[in-house]
Amino acid sequence: MVSAVLQTSFLGDMILTTPLIERLARAGDVHVVATPANAAVLANHPAVSSVIVYDKRKSDAGVTGLRRVAARVRATGATTAYMAQGSWRTAALARLAGVESVGFDTSAGRWLYSRRVAYRNDWHHAVRLWALADDPRDPAPTPTRLRPSLYPGAPDEAQVTALLEAADIPPGAPLIALAPGSVWATKRWPSYDALAGELVARLPDHRVVVIGAGGDAPLAAAIADAVRQRGGRPIVDTTGRLSLLGSAALLARCTALVTNDSAPLHLASAMNTPTISLFGPTVPAMGFGPVADRHAVLEREGLPCRPCSAHGGRACPLAHWQCMRDLSAGRVAEAVTRISQTS
Ligand code: SF4
Repeated sequence: MVSAVLQTSFLGDMILTTPLIERLARAGDVHVVATPANAAVLANHPAVSSVIVYDKRKSDAGVTGLRRVAARVRATGATTAYMAQGSWRTAALARLAGVESVGFDTSAGRWLYSRRVAYRNDWHHAVRLWALADDPRDPAPTPTRLRPSLYPGAPDEAQVTALLEAADIPPGAPLIALAPGSVWATKRWPSYDALAGELVARLPDHRVVVIGAGGDAPLAAAIADAVRQRGGRPIVDTTGRLSLLGSAALLARCTALVTNDSAPLHLASAMNTPTISLFGPTVPAMGFGPVADRHAVLEREGLPCRPCSAHGGRACPLAHWQCMRDLSAGRVAEAVTRISQTS
């Protein structure tokens, strides 16, 4: 059986699609349609036969681009497309490719699907996606927990080694990763700099590394300042300097990661890095919580406005942003200390 998996959402969604891809790969080749930004995260993945890049906003925009990508899907010989992303556009892509399509019964494009699968609000998203491959003739027991998988290669490892060597950090030195960024402003906890200052005193043998995209560099600079003011050793700012799989490789070397409800959380799940995740306008019950063996979720409990949106908006609709402001650096530092000391 040859399958196609259509996943053109955010990076975190792509990472959480890997258990579905692995499941399908047991029965045959799997070809994945991905955005240009996300395609690289599937490099080296043994379950992926090929990645078809769909640049839906630029070079493949419009009907002509849709037809072009559909022809590439058809050329793989796939018979079924699994709609990990649920827009009308991807549903039309499967139709144009002439393949059967299986997707969620809540998706915008569901009217075009050959088969619809219940979207279970009470399941982790990796499990929901995995269940798209359920065969009604041969029902398998549904796992309660699935860990995504990524495969950094030698160049990714070399990138990390070079950055750490340049910072004079020996192999095996304890590292705490901070990931202060998020596409959505209300998901960005505002106290990473204060946390880093606390960690200087609590975990003096650990070095802080900051991961993120190039746009997160100002957040890394604030963290570096806070550490300097507390007399700590310089942080390693990797924002914009590592590939996606390079960030995964770095996380695999870290004692723990502190992150918002954002893509680094899922990178850490894939590498099984102990994770402290900070949830504000969203909640883990939406299905996007950490699945590393050791993790802690910190939230502002008892706030009646939580959750207020599926993704987290650009500004707090109530203007007070208490869901994030009320999470103190001391409380997060305590959680980091606890998880680091049990490593
Ligand atoms: S409305 Fe509540 S949950 Fe939403 S951003 Fe504001 S404080 Fe956070």
